[in-house]
Amino acid sequence: MKKRWGVVILVLGILAWAAGVIGPGLFILLAVVSVLYFLLQAPLTCIAIGRQGRCRNNAQGMLRGCWIREHKWQGVKVLFGAGGGGQHRSAVLTADRQQMSASFGVATGMLSAIVALADFVIK
Ligand SMILES: [Zn+2]
Repeated sequence: MKKRWGVVILVLGILAWAAGVIGPGLFILLAVVSVLYFLLQAPLTCIAIGRQGRCRNNAQGMLRGCWIREHKWQGVKVLFGAGGGGQHRSAVLTADRQQMSASFGVATGMLSAIVALADFVIK
């Protein structure tokens, strides 16, 4: 559970914000932190694709890849499109349940931050 702290703060943040316990400012902060968690800390399988197919080592976060030097920051290239193209990107992001839930977490966190920001600006 300790490894899932990013998920926990995102869920608690959404609940606390919906219940009016915390303001949008604090919620934006929590959402941003949880997005960073999914990108840099979440326990996942490596996103890199090698000659033998997809690397299956454990990695930390979507962007960082595993311990193999060539795989470090592979996720950055995949997600931000240096080569590979969109099709490859979605194939990677839906490759397994961990990557899918991490992508979902990033999307939720970013969306939450945007909604909270709009709320912050409008009020
Ligand atoms: Zn790897």
